[in-house]
Parts: sequence; C-alpha cells; structure tokens
Amino acid sequence: MTTKTHIVGLSKDELVAKLKELGFESFRAKQIWHWVYSKGVTDFSQMSTISKDSQALLAEHFSVARPDIAKALTSFDGTRKWLVQYPDANKVETVFIPEEDRGALCVSSQVGCTLSCTFCHTGTMPLVRNLSAGDIVHQVMIARDGLGEWNKRREDCLFTNIVMMGMGEPLFNYDNVAKALNIVMDGEGIAISKRRITLSTSGVVPEIERVGRDLGVNLAISLHAVRDDLRDELVPLNKKYPIKQLLEACKNYPAANNARRITFEYVMLKGVNDTDADAHELVRLLKDIHAKVNLIPWNPWPGAKYETSSRNRINAFAKIVNDAGYSSPVRATRGEDIMAACGQLKSDSERKGKVWLGDTPPTNA
Ligand code: SAH
Ligand code: SF4
Repeated sequence: MTTKTHIVGLSKDELVAKLKELGFESFRAKQIWHWVYSKGVTDFSQMSTISKDSQALLAEHFSVARPDIAKALTSFDGTRKWLVQYPDANKVETVFIPEEDRGALCVSSQVGCTLSCTFCHTGTMPLVRNLSAGDIVHQVMIARDGLGEWNKRREDCLFTNIVMMGMGEPLFNYDNVAKALNIVMDGEGIAISKRRITLSTSGVVPEIERVGRDLGVNLAISLHAVRDDLRDELVPLNKKYPIKQLLEACKNYPAANNARRITFEYVMLKGVNDTDADAHELVRLLKDIHAKVNLIPWNPWPGAKYETSSRNRINAFAKIVNDAGYSSPVRATRGEDIMAACGQLKSDSERKGKVWLGDTPPTNA
C-alpha cells in the first residue's frame, strides 16, 4: 500500500512539482491551494472546479483530511481549546483566545520540549517529536473549522492573530515552523499577515535574526529574569546564550521598530524575580531596544516549586516598568487559564477542567 502525500504542509512549489508527476498543469496547483487554504475543504470531491476523474486520481495519491480532534472544549469566557491528535497518536493543544474585535490562536511547535525551564509544565516532559509543517498548519485549520470562519468576510472573522506560544521551542524546529508560517501567511490562502503573528522563544540566539529577516513576524522573548545566575536556573538555555547575547540579538532584530516592538515575557514568581530592584534592572536592560513587557502571573501546576506573586506586587512591578515608558500589561486572569492550556499537557488541562464546559470536571477541582 502506498501512503498518500498530505497536501497540507507542502510549499506551493512542492505542490506544483508533486502534481506535475501525475500530469497536472501548474494552474491546478493554484486551484487546489485555493480549495484547501481559502475554502477549507477536506475532500477532493468538494473541489468543483476539478473534474470527477481528476478528483479520483488526486484522492488516490493525496490527502486533504484533517487530523482527529480528541477533545474540543469551550470556556465560560469564550476561549476555545482543541486537543489535536495526529495519525501517530501524538497530541497537542491549540487554544483560541477571543477578544472584543480580534482573537489569537496559541499554536504548538513540538510535542514536549528539549528545554526544561523550571516553572513550565511542558519543561517536565521530554521532547517526543518535532511537529511537521503540516501538523502546525493543521492547528490553524482546525481552529478555522471550529470557529466557522472559512467563508466569512475578513472583517467578520474573530480569528485574526497567531502566537507561537504553545508547547515546545519553535526555534528548535525552525524549518518546519518557518514553512508552516509561510503557508499560513500566503495571501492566496489562509492569509494571516506577518504583523499578526508572534513567535515566542526562550532565547535561541543564533536563530533570532532569520526570524526577522526571512519571516518578518513579531518576536516575543521569554526573559523571566534580569540576572544570569537566576536566569540560568529558570531558563537553563541561558547558560548557552546569556542575557547580554540575547539582548544584543534583540537590538539587531530586523523586524522591530518603534511601532513593532519586541515583547518581553516575564513570569511573576513570588520571592524569586519580582522585587522593585528586578523591575528597575529590567528597565535598564531594555534601554535601546524597541520593547514592551508582558507580565504573566505564574500559572501553578502539580509538583512545581513556585508561587505566583501577589496582585499588589505585580502591580508595583508593572508601575515601575510603565513609569519608565514601557507598556507593561499584566496578562488577565483569563490569561492565566490560557497559559494553563497553552503549552500544557492534557492531564494539566483536565486539572484546570472547571473552566471548561462540555467536559467532565475533575472531582477535586
Ligand atoms: N518555548 C517558547 C514558547 C512556548 S512557552 C518559550 O519559552 O518562549 C510560552 C510562554 O509561556 C513562555 O513565555 C513561557 O515562559 C510561559 N510559561 C510557561 N509555563 C508557564 C507557567 N506555568 N505560567 C506562566 N507562564 C508560563
Ligand atoms: Fe520549553 Fe518554552 Fe516551556 Fe521553556 S518555557 S520548557 S522553552 S515550552
């Protein structure tokens, strides 16, 4: 039995080449691209501009089916979550966070993570595998399916933004992430602009420049500490790429300017990184960088050794950063729930199950 090539995840050039092998002209690739990425079809029989015979030939060699959805949940506040199950049984979570007139999808790049940041639940699990470009694009397509936004006018769509902040370190899977984002950004398909995509990294310094140069998306840095000794502990990758090197790469980031600032994510850990002195040092470090700060109340998980900073402490920290001229929004309470889902394992989401409708709440919630 020959395994079928999945169309989702092929670049446009690859699609043209694959179809050519079957005798199709290149305009057919364009049509198929349109059906798959503009219309969201999941079966060749839905491609009405293609003859029945050609549809059958395509279906023999290719697939446009979605991966399974192991679970689909909706929160009280409208947040949506899909547990996507790939054909090899690996699963990742994709979370959609709606706001007033926009909404962001939190997308995963790996099953597990090679890094082991001490405050992150994903960090406690080993890397199982990198997601392919198709696996990543499918998360976006599943969200569009679930939100019913394939054939809507752009201005009527709530799904406007993507954040690569789910499970895994996107810059340790650069090629697949880049390929996926190029597919998602393609104007003849899903067409989410680079200005509406943010990639978060724990600081893989050598890859940062080409994210800006080749993809041009917004950058977010998981900073979390202002001194190397502490960051070495919280984000062990810091031992390889210390703060100074990381900030140097940020200064030179090709896609940042005054209007498009780099987001510095800073998780607030009680008694660890949350003093006034830390806030002042943060401001000092960000001098000369087009920066904004995103303070994230730490989201607890079983067995973790941290506590979330108090609301007063977070506000005092935010005020220092704000007074220095940096926007420093604190991720809202619902954001805490989102972080729980974004980049966390299934078991962890079940623990937070009380927020979700349509699921059996854990008895100890
Ligand atoms: N690996 C990438 C992207 C995924 S993590 C990175 O580290 O940037 C996305 C964000 O969630 C990161 O800023 C990460 O530090 C943060 N995060 C992880 N665990 C968290 C937790 N328990 N509470 C709050 N934020 C967390
Ligand atoms: Fe991996 Fe990011 Fe979690 Fe660190 S914070 S373990 S890099 S997913």
